[in-house]
Amino acid sequence: TLTVPDRPIIPFIEGDGIGIDVTPVMKKVIDAAVEKAYAGKRQISWMEVYAGEKSTDVYPDGSGLPAETMEAIRDYVVSIKGPLTTPVGGGFRSLNVALRQKLDLYVCLRPVRYFTGTPSPVKHPEKTDMVIFRENSEDIYAGIEWAAGTPEVKKVIDFLTKEMNVENIRFPESSGIGIKPVSEDGTKRLVRRAIEYAIANDRESVTLVHKGNIMKFTEGAFKNWGYELAKEEFGAEPLDGGPWMKLKNPNTGRDIVIKDSIADAFLQQILLVPEEYDVVATLNLNGDYVSDALAAQVGGIGIAPGANLSDTVAMFEATHGTAPNIAGKDLANPSSVILSAEMMLRHLGWTEAADAVIKAMEGAIASGNVTGDLARLMDKPNQVGCKAFGEELIRQMG
Ligand code: ATP
Ligand code: MG
Repeated sequence: TLTVPDRPIIPFIEGDGIGIDVTPVMKKVIDAAVEKAYAGKRQISWMEVYAGEKSTDVYPDGSGLPAETMEAIRDYVVSIKGPLTTPVGGGFRSLNVALRQKLDLYVCLRPVRYFTGTPSPVKHPEKTDMVIFRENSEDIYAGIEWAAGTPEVKKVIDFLTKEMNVENIRFPESSGIGIKPVSEDGTKRLVRRAIEYAIANDRESVTLVHKGNIMKFTEGAFKNWGYELAKEEFGAEPLDGGPWMKLKNPNTGRDIVIKDSIADAFLQQILLVPEEYDVVATLNLNGDYVSDALAAQVGGIGIAPGANLSDTVAMFEATHGTAPNIAGKDLANPSSVILSAEMMLRHLGWTEAADAVIKAMEGAIASGNVTGDLARLMDKPNQVGCKAFGEELIRQMG
């Protein structure tokens, strides 16, 4: 467990694009929540670190990911970031992916919860209450790819057809080729975190979402390793003869069901019967789709929070991109990064401050004073700017 001083230094990356709108508002709202909860006894010492476009003025290497920033995130253990633009020619395909890989942030954690009054495309959005554990370091997302027509592709095709006897599939040299690595320890450390979370938070089930009927040795193996881990490390037993399992929560005595769902069917199920799902553990690419689909169900990326976790480091982040179309115009919804900060407060054990943020969010959305992304979908909204929404949140704290 984490030992947290009363005045922890928390590095933050403001972020590019709408980062300049949402991050300052987040800091104000979080400071207010901490003040509300602890009346000066506790306080966050924010420390700005640079990444993305904003860093390239200060750091001449132009990579967008200065060593000092990496060190701060690693050394201070808990941090928060806005969205980043990856500088062209800086050497990284994506800064977000580079950060995850360099710090081995193998869990992408996405809670999906509904705030009453949020516009939603489904009839009963309040039935959606899930926590997604997306594997963050493997899968086709690892970025091992070669472009069509390159000598590398020619070599790979040669190897596959001549040495690995891959045949009977269309495999012209005009193919782009990607590799999908999924490992046993990579899967197990992810599923372990999901089950531990379910135990600590008294959740009812953990669903392994996969496409193992088609990709047996990657996605199918993910499912098998997941069940295996549940059995070996948590004493899960087959439920009605299996393959589903159940284990007893040692804290509460309640059963936790370990089940699985095929990814395409799962995307239907979350629309039809979201109440049947709780904690979800899945591979990188599935997790990408599932996270965005579920976010839309409860109000969209403007309000969906997230975190990236390693065994030691926790980096909380806005889930949306830089949205250059509305950047710097005080239009963006700061809720995504604010609710990410709320997760951060909970991670620090500052539950009272986290609760104050949730109460404020409930009140602000119910008031109808919301940013444009939500207002345009509501019946009688009163559209406010990013800053004004932050002020509404602080007002709601009372
Ligand atoms: P990037 O290339 O960094 O991903 P993007 O334009 O794709 O940038 P996204 O975050 O993916 O940005 O957002 C797509 C669109 O959704 C934006 O153009 C914007 O209209 C809307 N959007 C995203 N985040 C927010 C937000 N916090 N508040 C309001 N609208 C948002
Ligand atoms: Mg985008």
